[in-house]
Amino acid sequence: GRRQPQPEDDEGGFGSAARRETARGGGAAGSGARPPGAQGLRNHGNTCFMNAVVQCLSNTAPLAEFLALGRYRARGARAEVTHRLAALVRALWSLEYTPRLSAEFQSIVAKHGAQFRGNAQHDALEFLLWLLDRMHEDLGSASPAPGPHAAHQRSAEQSGAGGESFVQSHFQAQYRSSLTCPHCRKQSNTFDPFLCISLPIPVRQTRALNVTLVLQREGGRSLRVGLAVPLLGTAAELRQMVAREGDVPPQQVILAEVSPQGFLRSLDDTEELSTAGQGAPLYALQAPPEAPAGAHPVLLLLCHVAGTGLHRARFGPPLVLRAERGASWAQLQRDVLAPLRGTMRSAVQSTAPQFRIHVAGEPGAYLSPQDMHPLCHAAIDRALQQSPTGGPPHVALTVEWDISTKERLFGSMQQEAVQDADSVRLQQAAHQQHSCTLDECFQLYTKEEQLAPDDAWRCPHCRVPQQGTVQLRLWTLPDILIIHLKRFRQVAQRRHKLSTLVRFPLRGLDMAPHLAPGGGLWQHPLRPPRSCPPDALYDLYAICNHHGSMQGGHYTAYCCNSLDGRWYSYDDSTVEGVREDEVSTRSAYILFYQRRNAIPAWSASSAAR
Ligand SMILES: [Zn+2]
Repeated sequence: GRRQPQPEDDEGGFGSAARRETARGGGAAGSGARPPGAQGLRNHGNTCFMNAVVQCLSNTAPLAEFLALGRYRARGARAEVTHRLAALVRALWSLEYTPRLSAEFQSIVAKHGAQFRGNAQHDALEFLLWLLDRMHEDLGSASPAPGPHAAHQRSAEQSGAGGESFVQSHFQAQYRSSLTCPHCRKQSNTFDPFLCISLPIPVRQTRALNVTLVLQREGGRSLRVGLAVPLLGTAAELRQMVAREGDVPPQQVILAEVSPQGFLRSLDDTEELSTAGQGAPLYALQAPPEAPAGAHPVLLLLCHVAGTGLHRARFGPPLVLRAERGASWAQLQRDVLAPLRGTMRSAVQSTAPQFRIHVAGEPGAYLSPQDMHPLCHAAIDRALQQSPTGGPPHVALTVEWDISTKERLFGSMQQEAVQDADSVRLQQAAHQQHSCTLDECFQLYTKEEQLAPDDAWRCPHCRVPQQGTVQLRLWTLPDILIIHLKRFRQVAQRRHKLSTLVRFPLRGLDMAPHLAPGGGLWQHPLRPPRSCPPDALYDLYAICNHHGSMQGGHYTAYCCNSLDGRWYSYDDSTVEGVREDEVSTRSAYILFYQRRNAIPAWSASSAAR
């Protein structure tokens, strides 16, 4: 999406010199020149999603032949989308591309697909499926134009194959969804067609989470550590991990989110870890040892803050200390300032109030210097009662300074400096560089899953609701196998992109293990008879890539040219050769495979007779 429309003299990256050379016939073999088909497409304003899909389809050999050689007879003049796509593909392969062709294609797409209007970025998968559906509608069960194969086609039509469009016969297959009753073990199957398999990507069960440790023995120094926390865990597990990391008892640890503006909240042991640390950086603070018996101490978590509104900023480290519940203001002020004494420019001799103390989370609740026992405030009682479970009961207090007093006593002191342990970088890297195989994605796709109690289904044999198990398996395989890697996940209100490296084979992807038992036998009259072993080996020929984040994403394609067998990178109008070992990246989004022994319909029908 980042590309802007380019000047009118852009030929889609195919320079006129290269074009002349190729036209003479010597270019394809020469260094740097590109064969027909390896030509760029102008970006007409966020049309990279369209360009990447068109390049993948243009390099789908049976489709390109079908469209470019005029083998199709579309249903009347209504088939504008297919006509424009055919004109574009033909131009890419005959070296006659001009930006006008892609502009016309774009406007026809906008005319028939309201969702693709305007200059917003769109999902390439959504566009691909729309385009295939459109072609299916446009082509219907049209037979190839009259030609040398017409006789075969007629016989195929007589045998009942006339009902399939080109899209159906090449891109479509069926999957079987089976529901098994846990009681009677009887199985109910449903069969559905697909043009594309959407494979889930296994996600890590942990995520990297940084926690800043503030331990008593470190004398207020802060150390940030990186932890691999369970995605579905609770704060109690985090408390245990932090305690192990810092070698302190878990019951002494206060877990809190502390932002640059001040204390945000303490974590409760029962809460889910998924959102921990999302509001503000996470701190684990160790409580100081218990006070001597007989006293009535209260555990305070202190954040020093100066300024107001947008200028409000925390300074110094967050601190945990014990104070006497019955302390006077002067005593409390001494206790609060004691840990900072080493960093102060001048000692505070006066007992006059130097700051205000706000009970965090209690709007307007300030401790009063006039009170005999300021900590005997009702808000302190409430805070102690509501103190989260797990760690020691505590009260979070914000010590508010006006700017001039703060500057006089502490100068330009800012937030505490935090040192990063090696684990921060290591955990970040470990979770970034996650990789898996395409096979693992298929295992997840075909994994047996039990219905939730709410989704119980009425078993036709037992005649009562049962929590059946559901399993997806492929029933038939298409000639052109499109695999969509589900990189975009919706978690709560946010969409995430998974940058997992999915390792997929370029040659010889064996789909046989993913077929349901009994499936894979071709029931199509144009296919080899049932006695033929199903051929389930596939070779990769195109990849649609998505780069960047959800918002500012960009699409490109890697395609293998059928004339020279080399891979090219298509980035709108820029086309470059790319090494075979470079095409597998974290950006791979849609994979295009062709069955190794795919037989064109016309030759298959003659072989079958
Ligand atoms: Zn049953």
